[in-house]
Amino acid sequence: MTSLPAAPPARRLGLVIDLDTCVGCHACAVNCKEWNTGGHSAPLTDTDPYGADPTGVWFNRVHSFEAGEGLSGRTVHFPRSCLHCDEPLCVTVCPTGASYKRAEDGIVLVNPDTCIGCKLCSWACPYGAREYDEDEGVMKKCTLCIDRIANETLPEIDRVPACVSTCPANARHFGDLGDPESAVSRLVAERGGVDLMPELGYRPVNKYLLPRERRGCESPSEPERFPENGVSGFFAWVDRVLSR
Ligand code: SF4
Ligand code: SF4
Repeated sequence: MTSLPAAPPARRLGLVIDLDTCVGCHACAVNCKEWNTGGHSAPLTDTDPYGADPTGVWFNRVHSFEAGEGLSGRTVHFPRSCLHCDEPLCVTVCPTGASYKRAEDGIVLVNPDTCIGCKLCSWACPYGAREYDEDEGVMKKCTLCIDRIANETLPEIDRVPACVSTCPANARHFGDLGDPESAVSRLVAERGGVDLMPELGYRPVNKYLLPRERRGCESPSEPERFPENGVSGFFAWVDRVLSR
């Protein structure tokens, strides 16, 4: 199978996603699709796009969920994409080396030239972050827009993933989560950012910031309290979303 880098990556590039400010507008998903359909993993195939049952390759998907009741009830929007895990079984199960984690920055990528489309990686990913391209017969996934973030012909302000550049709510942040002094690391520390399903041991690089309690809300009823149940309530909810 495929090995991970021998030493921890020098940098741990990833996203911090703020569930408190995400408004579920799907701008991140649409701009991701637009950029990547002409970029590193192009094209992002669509099947029957104008028919009754359209399907296709989307690296970023946004799920919406009703939580709580009464005055404390709210809609939470949950963007989902590859978390660029430090212990990614999607890589180690790959029989050809097509899936790999970069030693320099920790980004997890797929080489379409050596992918045989066996889908083992998508079975190994508990976050549903792999996207199989039916037309090309290869697996694809979020690249953190490597063709933007390292593109020195772009103005520096644009060298961020397409999803980050377009979010109107400033709910998406990009940076080096291996550097405790980076803006994203400080944000995670300040807001108590969490890993998605840490008990699985994949050690995701991306972090989520939980919705904050609304001022002046009545105490919600059990068992739907969220986010007052904190991290455990969040994971119970994510578990339901990912099980659909
Ligand atoms: Fe692999 Fe899934 Fe982790 Fe991405 S989220 S690195 S596809 S296991
Ligand atoms: Fe590797 Fe491609 Fe198989 Fe995934 S589908 S495990 S990337 S060969």
